[in-house]
Amino acid sequence: MRMRRYFQSLYLLPLVVTASYAAPPLPSFYGDAPDDSHPWAVHDRNRPQPAIVTPGTFSTQEQPGKPPSDAVVLFSGKSDDLAGWVSDKNPQEATRWEVVDGAMQCVPGAGYIRTKEEFGDCQLHVEWAAPSKVEGDSQGRGNSGVFLMGQVEIQVLDNYNNPSYPDGMAGSLYGVNPPAANALRPPGEWQSYDIIFRRPVYNGDELVDPGYVTVFVNGVLVQDHTPLEGPTGHKGRTKYKPFPEAGPLKLQDHGNPVRYRNIWYRPLPKRPVEGGTDGKLSKEATAAKRAEIAKSILEDAETLEGRAKWHRIAESLIYYKDPVVVDKIIEATEAYEAKLEEASADDIEAKKAEIMEASNALQYLIKFDRLPSDLPLAAKLKEIITEREWDKKK
Ligand code: MG
Repeated sequence: MRMRRYFQSLYLLPLVVTASYAAPPLPSFYGDAPDDSHPWAVHDRNRPQPAIVTPGTFSTQEQPGKPPSDAVVLFSGKSDDLAGWVSDKNPQEATRWEVVDGAMQCVPGAGYIRTKEEFGDCQLHVEWAAPSKVEGDSQGRGNSGVFLMGQVEIQVLDNYNNPSYPDGMAGSLYGVNPPAANALRPPGEWQSYDIIFRRPVYNGDELVDPGYVTVFVNGVLVQDHTPLEGPTGHKGRTKYKPFPEAGPLKLQDHGNPVRYRNIWYRPLPKRPVEGGTDGKLSKEATAAKRAEIAKSILEDAETLEGRAKWHRIAESLIYYKDPVVVDKIIEATEAYEAKLEEASADDIEAKKAEIMEASNALQYLIKFDRLPSDLPLAAKLKEIITEREWDKKK
């Protein structure tokens, strides 16, 4: 009888141990703790799981591929899709570009077109084809352009056997940086651009991130995180200026009937510099995020009971060393230590897993200065483990 009562009370004791509960079955009190620039621990199980995206398929010359499941489709090949585009000069007017055989074709003289949709940082996929009938040379052959946020041109040009000034060739950041390679297919064939675009970020008048563009032409890397230098110009050196948060995608009418198909984008997560919480953050942003994580863990703890609850409360200390929580945990360890003093050798043996886990949690919190290093329970648990050689691999 006495034994059963003992186990019941030990089991219900507020105790810092891992137990099976709703949180993912991953280790906590594990990788290096959050610091001044990382709000998450290394291998942090509390970190949100990535969004599930069903990948698309690759295009062939005959047929465009399928976009990934979370893509915003700007042109899929249907005439109806033109409703999402307007004349750039007169945005009240529909575009005069035409849809022919599933492709959106520039009608020379109709002017640039732009999407009604506005967006900023993105992964953008665009496919284009220069006219198969070769006419003109240099900048006059199959010229168009993809204007990110309507301001930064990634050049579209038929440079297959057609040299031009390198900073104006297909895949160039026009006027700024040539493509690292000329990976074009012959005119008439479909070319694909995969672009990763980060707009410049300002804090008032101060440029805090220049923005970057990465471009793959037909799967070949041609722009590798190339810093932007502001909006694209012609002949003149471009200069930085503040960008809005979003803008339309524009396609250039440069007088050639270039065709487009399969245009979609995926918005990108925010960079730390603009409030994103993945990556290295400022001290202030890290502190704010850590407090937020701790708060949500403590809220979650309220939905739990017994050991699971105490485990979760202790976990909040990894992110934020709240003195009130520290005191609560210390009190709980004192109560547990008192129970251990009364326990028989058999009782302790039966609680091996629990004790090992409690010890791990305490050692972790002490190592990262979340709990005092002279915590009596920590020493006691270590002693139990060493005496019984539980720490030795068998
Ligand atoms: Mg152009």
